[in-house]
Amino acid sequence: MDPFGRAITYLRVSVTDRCDFRCVYCMSEDMAFLPKRDLLTLEELDRICSVFVGHGVRKLRITGGEPLVRRNIMKLFGSLSRHLETGALDELTVTTNGSQLARYATELAACGVKRINVSIDTLDPDKFRRITRWGDLAKVLHGLDAAQAAGLQVKINAVALKAVNEDEIESLLAWAHGRGMDLTLIEVMPLGEIDGQRIDQFLPLSLVRARLGARYTLEDLEDRTGGPARYVRVRETGGRLGFITPMTHNFCESCNRVRLTCTGQLFMCLGQEDTADLRAPVRALESNDLLDRAIVDAIARKPKGHDFIIDRRNRPAVGRHMSMTGG
Ligand code: SAM
Repeated sequence: MDPFGRAITYLRVSVTDRCDFRCVYCMSEDMAFLPKRDLLTLEELDRICSVFVGHGVRKLRITGGEPLVRRNIMKLFGSLSRHLETGALDELTVTTNGSQLARYATELAACGVKRINVSIDTLDPDKFRRITRWGDLAKVLHGLDAAQAAGLQVKINAVALKAVNEDEIESLLAWAHGRGMDLTLIEVMPLGEIDGQRIDQFLPLSLVRARLGARYTLEDLEDRTGGPARYVRVRETGGRLGFITPMTHNFCESCNRVRLTCTGQLFMCLGQEDTADLRAPVRALESNDLLDRAIVDAIARKPKGHDFIIDRRNRPAVGRHMSMTGG
């Protein structure tokens, strides 16, 4: 429980800062990545996650960077799945760009993963390449097929980008709902230096929602998935549509999550710089005493919230990229 009475039941774990894509709003093309020796090992990641589960975390999301490019990552899913079997954990899930799903979908399902988030901002192969710089849409769609064939429930995440995919949001919606997948739209957040100007990319979802509302009947839903999205049911398609609006609507009051980086820094808030180091305590002792204390102390420092502002001078609100703490 944090100082504002919020139960912290959701841990997101970025298992690598590396990615096989270079999405224009996320990274610069020429990124400097962490040396491998700074990373927590898979065993250390498992230990930290398990201590969080012991403290009442009910949901773990593995993210990145691109989590499925980390070597032997299925070992971590396999070991964490024991908490699903004991009932200590409600959900083990992953956010991925889908590039490796064809390879891993069956194994993920076998580890007890039921739902996954796949990030796809456009269905136009050329535009997909322009947005991701290095991505191949056909490979991602093949991965999606594999995920659905393995019985995984898929939610599509799309960042709404001014003049890039804003004319495609209706078709993304029809496509996702037509395949039985929810769609969540995300506003661009000012995290980390990129090559372009965020002010040029920012598209307020209030505008997107108003446009969709002219064509579809959007019925507000009370569903909370433990994430920051607000959902509507689209009456014509029967599917769910989520809006993540950190810029136009602050979602901090119901925040139930903290984020661990691949080097063991715990971020208590996506929009603030304060961190707690969990790598030193996990490496100091074989017992979890220090780690226990570090986690309790960190949660006691969780801030009330954040205000992102997209600055005309193109300064990011926080210096780190989304790939460090994951989506
Ligand atoms: N590689 C995985 C993926 O593509 O889903 C997981 C990590 S990625 C950082 C998680 C999500 O954050 C993706 O949906 C991505 O589009 C989104 N994202 C990255 N940078 C962002 C930014 N500056 N603002 C909003 N969303 C961002």
